[in-house]
Parts: sequence; structure tokens; C-alpha cells
Amino acid sequence: MSSRCASVSKIIPFSCVDGPGSRLTLFLQGCNLRCKSCHNPWTMGRCNDCGECAVHCPHDALSFQAGRVYWQETLCQQCDTCLKMCPQQATPMAQTMSVEEVIKQVARAAPFIEGITVSGGEATTQLPFICELFTQLKATPALSHLTCLVDSNGELGIPGWEKLLPVCDGVMVDLKAWNSSVHQRLTGRGNERIKASIRWLAEHQRLAELRLLTIPEETDYLSSIEPLSEFIHSLGEITVRLNAFHAHGVYSEAREWRSAHAGDVEPLAQALQNQGINQVILPALYL
Ligand code: SF4
Ligand code: SF4
Repeated sequence: MSSRCASVSKIIPFSCVDGPGSRLTLFLQGCNLRCKSCHNPWTMGRCNDCGECAVHCPHDALSFQAGRVYWQETLCQQCDTCLKMCPQQATPMAQTMSVEEVIKQVARAAPFIEGITVSGGEATTQLPFICELFTQLKATPALSHLTCLVDSNGELGIPGWEKLLPVCDGVMVDLKAWNSSVHQRLTGRGNERIKASIRWLAEHQRLAELRLLTIPEETDYLSSIEPLSEFIHSLGEITVRLNAFHAHGVYSEAREWRSAHAGDVEPLAQALQNQGINQVILPALYL
């Protein structure tokens, strides 16, 4: 088996919000967008062992030895002090895990799950690890029935998707705004690559879900409903999931933004339906 490793910020053995059915979800550390709306902003960066957080842990769960930060899970109280102060938007709690170690965890959860989802951060910033993990899962008879999904921001280029195609069953992609200038303001980058990824994945029957995140007074889906709907129609029969922004956990100016309610999201659902887009899923709850 491969010994390829990834920086993992968290594993949830049983999740019902990261794709269809019950799934093991693996959150990889590091992201190539800087979304103001991110409610896990400490998953964006990679720890450079600067040591700043170690002396501030109120529960002595962090130590700094030989130039490296070490985290002791048994002492950690999940107070998030280290996350809030990290200048890299990283976490000292991310763990390096090998493909074999992840597969062992998947095997333990296997009787109770339909598949696994690799999320982030941005999962595809650790593409070789995902390719190897999915390849090994599909080659393991007791696990080969599990579906392998990726939750992505869509920034990966087409050559990357081509590598993933043979072993990935589907990708859930966020389109954070329709106009590239709005996307740039909300995420730090334009959305041309993301639209290209969405088109390519749909053409190759791998677009598991298109996600639109409503941020009141910030996103432009409703004002762009005609070109947005035309784009969605061009993708064929796909599912559109509408998510609602909530301010919990965000950094920067997004802390001042209003959380989205049904009154913000339902008009978008109605407008999409008026344009003939019927496979629309509304948020299960609003925070
Ligand atoms: S988690 Fe952040 S503050 Fe802590 S050592 Fe790593 S880079 Fe420094
Ligand atoms: S979350 Fe960070 S600061 Fe808080 S106890 Fe755990 S390691 Fe220490």
C-alpha cells in the first residue's frame, strides 16, 4: 500500500451533511481561496511551526520542541485559543495521516456509512493523496462499495480533474457568486476556473451538486438570475443546493454580515424554479 500522507484537520466518522446518506468526512488542511464567509477559517493555512500558539494554550496541550509544535489531544479542551491567534489561519491540531491510517478509520466506520467525502479547506490542494486514497478504497473488496466524493471550491484545473476522474464518483462544487468581480471580492479570486470546472464535471457526469451560498446584500444570484439559469440549464440534469450564510465562526468583515434567513433564500429558489430549474434543495435549517 502507498505511504502517501496528507495534513488532516479533522475526521468525522458519521456525517449526514456532506453528501448523500451517512458518510465519513475527511477535512484536509489548506485552501487556495480566502472566502470572507468561511466558517472554518483556520483550515485555510498550513502551520509553519512558528510556535506562537504553544505558549498561549491555557490547558498546556501544546508544546514547542526542537522547532516543532506538538499537540496533545488528551489535554486539549477545544477552547480554540490557538486557532484564533494563528497568523497563518492554520491549526496546531492538524495531523499528518497516511492513506493506510485513513483506510483503517474508513474500515471501522464501513458498516454504518454509504461512502466517504473529502472536504477541506480545499480538498484538491492535496490531490495526489485523494487519488491514492480513492484508488486504494476501490481496490479493497470490503470497501469498494463505498462512494468516493469530493467537496470542492472548483479551483482545480482540468488536468487535475482528469487525474481524479477514474476513481471519484462525484464532486460537490460551490459557486460563490455569478459575476467574477463579486466572486473576487468575496473569495480573493475570480470564478472563471470554477465555472470551467463545473462545466467539465457536468460533461463527465461527475457534478454531484452545485451549491449556491446566499449572503444577504453580498451575493448576486438574484440580480443575475437569467445568465445563472442559462448556465445551470447548460449543465443538464443537476441538483442545485441553496445554502444560507451564517456569521458563526467567520473572521474579518464577515462578522458584521447578516445571516441569511428563509426570506433571503426562498426568493432565489422561486426565481430558479420560474426559470425551469426544479431540482433545488433548500437549507434544512437556518442559524
Ligand atoms: S498553528 Fe499557527 S501559531 Fe501555531 S505554530 Fe502553527 S503557524 Fe504558528
Ligand atoms: S484548542 Fe488549542 S489552545 Fe485550546 S486547549 Fe486545544 S490546543 Fe490548547
